[in-house]
Formats: sequence, structure tokens, C-alpha cells
Amino acid sequence: MAIASSSLLSLNSHISSASYLHRSPHRTRKFLRRQSWLLFRARNHATNSVSVFKAKVTDDVGEEDVVVVGAGIAGLATAVSLQRLGVRSLVLEQAESLRTGGTSLTLFKNGWRVLDAIGVGSDLRSQFLEIQGMVVKSEDGRELRSFRFKDEDESQEVRAVERRILLETLASKLPSEAVRFSSGLAKMERGENGKMLLELVDGTRLLAKIVIGCDGIRSPVAKWMGFSEPKYVGHCAFRGLGFYANGQPFEPQVNYVYGRGLRAGYVPVSPTKVYWFICFNSPSPGPKTTDPSVLKKQAKELVKNWPSDLLNLIDLTPDETISKTPLVDRWLWPAISPPPSNGTTVLVGDAWHPMTPNLGQGACCALEDAVVLARKLVNAINSGPTSVEDAMKSYGIERWPRVFPLTLRANFVGSILQWESPVVCSVRNNIVIPKLVKLGPLLEHTNFDCEPLLQTNF
Ligand SMILES: Cc1cc2nc3c(=O)[nH]c(=O)nc-3n(C[C@H](O)[C@H](O)[C@H](O)COP(=O)(O)OP(=O)(O)OC[C@H]3O[C@@H](n4cnc5c(N)ncnc54)[C@H](O)[C@@H]3O)c2cc1C
Repeated sequence: MAIASSSLLSLNSHISSASYLHRSPHRTRKFLRRQSWLLFRARNHATNSVSVFKAKVTDDVGEEDVVVVGAGIAGLATAVSLQRLGVRSLVLEQAESLRTGGTSLTLFKNGWRVLDAIGVGSDLRSQFLEIQGMVVKSEDGRELRSFRFKDEDESQEVRAVERRILLETLASKLPSEAVRFSSGLAKMERGENGKMLLELVDGTRLLAKIVIGCDGIRSPVAKWMGFSEPKYVGHCAFRGLGFYANGQPFEPQVNYVYGRGLRAGYVPVSPTKVYWFICFNSPSPGPKTTDPSVLKKQAKELVKNWPSDLLNLIDLTPDETISKTPLVDRWLWPAISPPPSNGTTVLVGDAWHPMTPNLGQGACCALEDAVVLARKLVNAINSGPTSVEDAMKSYGIERWPRVFPLTLRANFVGSILQWESPVVCSVRNNIVIPKLVKLGPLLEHTNFDCEPLLQTNF
């Protein structure tokens, strides 16, 4: 999960749009000539598309119909969904490239439904193992329970997907100029005619008819819309991706180990890679540590008396894949939390609903958001700002009952799994997990219907 620095950003600052648009007579003539040529060219190129795409570049302020802020899972999935429906967008990413490090994400059937709907499911499926079930153990290695996903739900599909490959696959469906790197959003405010005026860290300015904030948990766009900072939930996660050059030895299942105030998990990703995490209680997020040798040492110290598989896995983890993340979420209380859209600006993914990873649903929900929003926008985009605003409101109304309960549920599950009391943990390990837990109801939230987004050629 990328944690964007918001210290760079001074949102709500006063940018005078009039000063951007003020020109000398000579520059105005040059501007008008250029605009008419670009509009003529755009009209002639856009006869098959749902929206007339205008990429007008003036001396001072570029102009775009749709700007997506952030090239993470939400941003790229939104851009691909829109493109399939014939709407081009410009994706602004603060980093110099797509995120290349990092580990993997477990995607459940709802995530796969979306990936299929936007035409990338089969590219990804072939690269990642299908996970058949899960085994839960106590810290001494005793098996408490095992489940097979298909016994509970024949349509369930679970695979751990490398984030890097997911991002690259999504980006490969977009024209290369659709994602602009080193383009961090620094400021935004309402410009002329209901358009948004965006200023990037390098001083570039853009007017956008529609802004889609996909800029992650510390979203500057969400901040501009009045959302509070996400809240630390009291536990942190180490993560890594172990590499076995001669093939990994594990069954295709998720392995969980539950301790007291501490839990771990590992799951095969591919024939050579295995994702692992360790989640531990900590009263504060602690200092930000990025040195891989320190992170490995800290992670191993936590589970030094646990089954040796995990310790070996940590040893086999390349430096660039190990990280420590404080877990956060934000509860979207009705009437207290702002809606996900403001005018023609809207939020998607973690920018709107950061949730803890206890259900493995953050990225899955970001993917769901992307297709729902794209479908609603495409019908509205050529009918003016009011229709766009209505489409965004309708997206918020449809998605809120989905994402808010999941955020609460993920938080609740995390609190239970992080319990420290020996008595409570003993009840959990000896009664609740072996005798009471039913997997089917626990995975009901992975039901999500999603028709394919039909490809429209530009
Ligand atoms: C420990 C852990 C485990 C997880 N496991 C799972 C799992 O198994 N399954 C699952 O579904 N989810 C999981 N998640 C959640 C998942 O990682 C997130 O929900 C998902 O990454 C959200 O994607 P996003 O695109 O909304 O945000 P991000 O992935 O954070 O992407 C945001 C992008 O916006 C860019 N950006 C930020 N600010 C700016 C700016 N000012 N200008 C331009 N660009 C900007 C960033 O550089 C980044 O590229 C996990 C999360 C954690 C922390």
C-alpha cells in the first residue's frame, strides 16, 4: 500500500484561475488558432467514441475531460473501465513509474469478476495459482481447522496476485500516453464553468471537467473534499514475498497461524513465490523503518518460536519486497462523513474507504468501485455537469452500503484476531475455530455480479 505524503500539499490554497487565463492579444490569437486545430483534430478522431475527447494544451493551462489522480489499482482499473466504454482519461501518478516493489494481494471472486469484466482476468489467471482452501493453526503448529473454498461455494475463486503484475497488466490496456508519471497533484480548486483547476508539484496546471481521486489512503483529493485522516487501528503488518528458486514446497492453500496479539499467514502465489504477513499489536505505528535487514530481524523476532516454515520464508524474502505498514481505516458514518463526490470530483478505492486488510477486500472493492463508476459516468458524460454530478451521487448511493459495512466488519475481525487475553485466545482456538466457525457466511461478502464492460473502439 503506497502511503502518499500529504506534507507537500497545500490544499484549498487560492489559485487564481483568472490569472491563468489572462493573456496578451498575441498569445490569445495563438491560443485560439491552436485550440481550433486541436478541436478539429479531436472531432475527426473521435467519431466512434462516446465522448469527444479534447486534449487541449495551451501555453499555460492544459485541459482534459477526465483526470484520474493516482495510478494504483483503483486508478488504473477506472481508466481501463472508462476506456472500454469509449471514454479516454488522463491518469496522473506522483511516482516516476508504476509501483514495482511490494508483495501480493489476495483477490476473491468479486475481484476476479471485475478483472474479467474489464478484460484482464485471463492474462492474470494464467500466472497465479488457484488457492483451494485454508488451514488454521495455533502458534505451536497444531491444526485447528481446515476449509476448502469450493466446498462452501462452488463459484469461489481465490488467488494471490503480485501487485506489480496486476498494475502492469492494467496499464498495458491503456495507451502509453494515458498515464503521466512524476505528476503529483499539489493543489486543486474549482475553476471556471464548474471545471476543476489542478496544479501539479512541478507547477503544471490542468483544467478538468471530471476529477476521479484514486490517490490512496492519504488522498489529497479526499482531504480537499473534507474527509478526515484515516485512523490507526492498533496493529501493524510486516509483509514479504518469499522466493524459492527451485520451486516452493507448499500446498495451494492459505496458512494462518494465530497467537496472542499476534498472527501470521502465508499463501503460495506462483510456483516460485510465497506471500507472507505478520500482524502484531502496537500502541502506536512506531517509527517508519524501511531498512530490509532491520525489518526482517524484527519480523523474525516476533515469530521466533513459531513453526519454522515462516522463519525460512522470511529468510528467503528479497529485500525489495519486505515492508511494515501501520493498519488504518476510516468509518464512513452517514451524515458525518462527506459523500464520495463533490461537484464533478469523486473518490474511488482507498481514497474513499480505507479499510483494514483482515477480509482481503480493499483492492477487491476498489475494482468494484471502478466498474460501477465507469458505467454510471459513461451515460452522463456528454450531457453536461449536472448529469455527471447525478451519476457520481448515484455511484455513492450504490456503493456506500457495500463499502461501509465491509470496513466495519474488517475492523471487527481484526480486533478479534488480535486479542491478547490467554483465556479468550484459548476459547477462540479450542471452541470457536474448531467447532463454531462456518466459512460460507464469512465469505458471503465476495458475491458481486458484474457484467462485462463491452469494448468500444475509439
Ligand atoms: C497489509 C495489507 C494487506 C492487504 N491485502 C489485501 C488483500 O489481500 N486483498 C485486497 O483486496 N486488498 C488488500 N489490501 C488493500 C489494498 O492494498 C488496497 O485497498 C489497494 O491497494 C487500494 O488501491 P488504490 O488504488 O485505492 O490505492 P493505492 O494502491 O494506494 O494507489 C494510490 C496511488 O495514488 C498515487 N498518489 C497518491 N497521492 C498522489 C498525488 N498527490 N498525485 C498523484 N498520484 C498520487 C500513489 O502513488 C499510488 O500509486 C491490503 C492492504 C494492506 C495494508
